This record gives sequence, C-alpha cells and structure tokens, in this order.
Amino acid sequence: MFVDVATIHLKAGDGGNGAVSFHREKYVAAGGPDGGDGGRGGNIIFAVDDNLSTLADFRYKRKYCAENGQNGATSRRTGKSAPDLTVYVPRGTIIKDADNGRIIADISDDEPVIIAQGGRGGWGNWHFANSTRQIPRFAKSGIPGEKLDVTLELKLLADVGLIGFPNVGKSTLVSVVSEAKPKIANYHFTTLTPVLGVVRMDEGSSFVMADIPGLIEGAGEGAGLGHEFLRHVDRCRLLVHVIDVSGSEGRDPIEDFEKINHELAVFSPELAERKQIVVANKCDLTEDDEVARIGEWFTSRGYDFFPVMAAIAEGTNKLINHIASELAKLPPIIRYEPEEREEIITFTGSKRNFTVRKEGAAFLIEDAEWLLKILETVDPDDYESLQYFQRVMKDTGIIQALIDAGVHDGDTVKLYDIEFDYIS
Ligand code: GDP
Ligand code: MG
Repeated sequence: MFVDVATIHLKAGDGGNGAVSFHREKYVAAGGPDGGDGGRGGNIIFAVDDNLSTLADFRYKRKYCAENGQNGATSRRTGKSAPDLTVYVPRGTIIKDADNGRIIADISDDEPVIIAQGGRGGWGNWHFANSTRQIPRFAKSGIPGEKLDVTLELKLLADVGLIGFPNVGKSTLVSVVSEAKPKIANYHFTTLTPVLGVVRMDEGSSFVMADIPGLIEGAGEGAGLGHEFLRHVDRCRLLVHVIDVSGSEGRDPIEDFEKINHELAVFSPELAERKQIVVANKCDLTEDDEVARIGEWFTSRGYDFFPVMAAIAEGTNKLINHIASELAKLPPIIRYEPEEREEIITFTGSKRNFTVRKEGAAFLIEDAEWLLKILETVDPDDYESLQYFQRVMKDTGIIQALIDAGVHDGDTVKLYDIEFDYIS
C-alpha cells in the first residue's frame, strides 16, 4: 500500500546534568569545586534518501528518540554529548507541526535539517564559585530536548504531472518517453503508487514526469483514491491532461476533461489554474475527423492539443519537445518555506507589569524590570530567599500566566538574560 502521510513522535535528547563535586587529594583539606558540565542531548535531523519513495516505514515505527547527553563528572570532566539521530525520508517530504499544521521544513534538497533540538548540558558546580560563594553545592540540570509530534506529507518533486481518467494511457505515455516502467494494464487503477519518470532530451536537458493514479469522480471531495493523489500534482509546474480521444470505454472525452478539471478545482482552485496541455491518446481507435473535431474544441479554448498513439510512441516526440519548451518558460518547482512559530502568547499583569511570551521552547518574562531588581537580591543558596522570590512570582500572577502559556516542569523560563527551570 502506498503511504504518503504519517504522523510520528520526536523526542530530542536531554542535556546531561552538571555535576557537584569537590577536588579531593590526599593531605589536601578542602579542594575547590570541580563538577563538570553535562553533555548536549542529540538532535533529530531529517535528510533525503532517494531510495525511498513512500512514507510506509513511518507506519510501523512512529517514535524517534535521540539519546540524552551524559552527566558531568568529577575533575571538571564534561559528560559526553549524544550523537544526532538522522531520520531519512523521500525527497519532497513536508514536515509539519502536528498540533497546528505549521510547516517546519520541506525536505527537498540535500541539506539535512534539524527538526528537534537536543537540550544543552547543565553547568557543573565549578562555574558557580565566586569570591562570596566558595563552596557551591549545586549545579545546573540539563535542558530537556525538544519534544513534538510531526506530520510528514509527501509532495513529489516533478515538473510535469499526468492527470486524466483511469485507462486513458497515462502509464503507457510515461513508459515510452522515459526509462520508468509503471504497470500498464487494461483495467482501472493499475497505478497505485506514483511513478516518476525522467524524460531525457536530445540536447542533454531533462525533466521529471509523474504518473499518478487516475482521478475519479468525487475525488475532490475525498471519495475513493483521488484526493490523496491530487497532493502529488501539487508541486508540478505543468499538467498534462490525457484523454482517450476514441471514447473506447463509452465515455465522452470532453466530458472526462471537464470532470477532472472540476475535481481539481474542488481540491485546489490554485491547482485548477495551472497550465494544462491536452494529450489525445488512442488516436488509432477513432477517425481522423473525430480527432480534428475534438482538437478544434480544445484549441478554440486556448489549449495546446497533441494527438498521440502512446502505445506505439506516435506523436510523443513532438509532445515532449513542446513540454520542454513550455517548462523553460515556467518558474522552478515550488519549495515550501518554513513558517515562523506563532505561539506568542501574551499576558499582562494587573498588580505589577509584566508580559509572558512563549518563544520556541522557552517562556519569556518581559517588561518586568521590577522583578529583575528583586531577583538580584536573591541568594540562590538560601532557601528562605528563594521562597521569597517564588512568592513574588505567585502573588503577582506570573506563575499563573506561565501556566496559562503552557509551561511544564523543566521548561526554560527566561527573565532578560537570566534563565531558570520552571518547577511547580
Ligand atoms: P492509465 O490507467 O491511464 O495509466 O492507462 P494505461 O497506460 O495503463 O493504459 C490503459 C490501456 O490502454 C492499456 O491496455 C494500454 O495498452 C492501452 N493503450 C495505451 N495507449 C494506447 C494507444 O495509443 N492505443 C490503444 N489502442 N491503446 C492504448
Ligand atoms: Mg496507470
């Protein structure tokens, strides 16, 4: 079965914790702090594998976790950073945030993309020694790795998309103009997975033609096979609409053409506007006059019309030369730009001014210089002092605002350039 959509879970590695330790040596009474930093958690990276043509693997394996960084150790030894985890997908896979549909990346080029960021390691206690605090008995814990659900959607990268009813000869056409060998048979829906054929021109240039399964009535409303497959012509620069000019299956070719275009319009008005070339196949099964009559109908409506006999490659050279010259005039294949995260939630306090905003995985407390002043007086080693700070955060509504913004234990909260972990 052909799979072109999948939802998977990603969990990047957590950063390792910083260590609390003190230098120990025989006969040396009190050594200084020497707890090392935690290592970085592994990122989850997506990259293209051209041997893949479907997202079928993601139906069986849905959870992808990168390893955590190791904790810091004594003698300022930094914990080992975890390796990145690379997930391979077919070229043309769009990655979206499953929660809100935001496009995170379009994996169409050879550049790998980090989708879930591993957490930084926490600082070991040696960083926290200063003139007034010589025995820091604390270290920073690692930052948790990003965790998110993503939807993968395959949108093929093809210059030309073949559309048309089942059995009109689309697969036959691809097989005679390219090296691709899609299944050809005299029954409907032999093509169940899209096939990409590279069409090589004499002068060395080439373009990619996609044979997608036939569209059927109601496809635009999601009935049957159609809808899913319409996604595959989404990026095509040019549509080649194949009709059975002979009406060998008892349908009228012009009616077929209009039905398919109706389906396209229902699926995407933008797609329906894309340039189409009409290929009249199976000319061997009808009279030349009939081909001419139908050709007249199309040309008078502004369509380029190409009568062919795909089965014997008659007329196909002229067709591909025309396609190549049309493509030369069209913009390149669409690449989807990543969309900015929009999770900017803003709260304004009533007692004291502040704003809470979510940016990426962190929660920012802003417009609160007063809180910064209080924080400066807080001694992180002193329990009472910390309790006081907590109480201020609670009484002024900041804690509630953070909760409303979706904060969880261990999330990073930033107050100007001071960072701390949220703990409820
Ligand atoms: P698709 O469903 O649109 O991909 O159609 P296929 O390429 O599988 O072809 C359907 C049937 O039409 C097959 O039996 C082909 O051999 C036949 N066919 C393809 N091109 C021609 C042609 O030019 N003339 C005739 N008579 N039959 C053709
Ligand atoms: Mg076919």
